[in-house]
Amino acid sequence: MNRNIKFYNSLTRQKEDFVPLDDHNVKMYACGITPSAEAHIGHLYQALIYDIMRKFLVKEGYNVVYARNYTDVDDKIIAKSNELGVPASEYAEKMIEEIDSEMHAFQIGEPDIWLYATKTIPDMIKFISKLIEKGKAYPTPNGDVYFSVDKFKEYGKLSGRRTEEALDGVRIENDEFKKSPLDFALWKSAKEGEPYWESPWGRGRPGWHIECSVMNYVTFGEQIDIHGGGRDLLFPHHENEIAQTESLTGKPFAKYWIHNGLIRVNGQKMSKSLGNSLLMKDLRKNYHIEVIKLALLQNSYHTDINITDKLFEDAEKHLYNFYKVLFEAQENFQKCSGEDKKVEEDFDDAMRDDLNTSKALSYLFNIFKEAKEKVAKGDESVSATLNSVIETYSLLGLFKEKPKVFLDGVDRKNKADIPDEIKALAERRWQAKREKNFALADSLRADLENLGYVVKDTREGYEISKA
Ligand SMILES: [Zn+2]
Repeated sequence: MNRNIKFYNSLTRQKEDFVPLDDHNVKMYACGITPSAEAHIGHLYQALIYDIMRKFLVKEGYNVVYARNYTDVDDKIIAKSNELGVPASEYAEKMIEEIDSEMHAFQIGEPDIWLYATKTIPDMIKFISKLIEKGKAYPTPNGDVYFSVDKFKEYGKLSGRRTEEALDGVRIENDEFKKSPLDFALWKSAKEGEPYWESPWGRGRPGWHIECSVMNYVTFGEQIDIHGGGRDLLFPHHENEIAQTESLTGKPFAKYWIHNGLIRVNGQKMSKSLGNSLLMKDLRKNYHIEVIKLALLQNSYHTDINITDKLFEDAEKHLYNFYKVLFEAQENFQKCSGEDKKVEEDFDDAMRDDLNTSKALSYLFNIFKEAKEKVAKGDESVSATLNSVIETYSLLGLFKEKPKVFLDGVDRKNKADIPDEIKALAERRWQAKREKNFALADSLRADLENLGYVVKDTREGYEISKA
């Protein structure tokens, strides 16, 4: 059975069959990172989703060209580099290197094409000049260039905001030369101490929105299939990208506008000022990258994710149990071969339905529930299923580790996490048991449970873990 892939298109506000503009060739762009600080879980989530989307499209037989960009010049980068007394370009380069290496550590696939705003400036100047020629944009006497929103009749078609509503969403910049408050900057004249490029309007730099329009245009031409980004970019960023590109080309820019949900931490928006940014490098210290991926992919990519410690702890427990089944199957059965077509079929069906990783993972829970019983019974037929699981779910970045390595890693970490007083209690319980003082042993076990720890006797002694 080969069903069509369906994607939820923000532009039409419905799930649609995915039919690329040109046969099986897919042009895909996702707005990338502004390298003004270290990468956090929001960056990871966005990169993960579009990496999976690309991989799944390739699996389904499409020729995908996937481009991502770095917005490597911006107010925050300039402020940060001034603070450190280094050129903005040097600071941005260093941050990009760090972010790239984090993405690499999380095994996020590289896009086919990397784009950098600062390497596309001459094309941006050409693009803006054409918009001015067409009467869609205007320069001001102080060297800025603005896009004239009322010259683009379809403005608001993506966000559904009519122009007066849209005003609530934009930062009103005080500029006496702006013809309408909704007009946005395509080119900004350089202030003292800012990096600049020469242009027909004087020294300056591009506005953020024009960068994505132009990087797309020079990479892919007038139209693309998929334009992705976080939902926070839908307005005004993507609305403005549409206005700029379509004003120039007269054609629909992207056929499918796709937006991933946002990350919240303990119910709050993540922000530097709240001090609750979860950096990728810190996450990686606390959890295996597959645990983090499992936690993030349990939702549909549209919904916002609320990050709590429990979310990762639960994901770790689940993945630990999965790996345990894999480990035991490997230990007990001579050969681990064969395949179970249903595993892959169910996975593909879920993924074709708007990349429903939540559904794909729910299958995984059922598979392992059954597999656990079969392994316990010595039913070797389960190895085919488990083989297919490893193969199929690698698309989500799971089961790439050797089971023993994964299990040992979690065990080691959990042992290290147990406070000394808990270890001491567990040791006293063990002594009591050896002295056959079972009443004391039981009461110490109850104490440990009240404190949130479980103690389990093993062949070698005992194990203690968080409940
Ligand atoms: Zn963008």
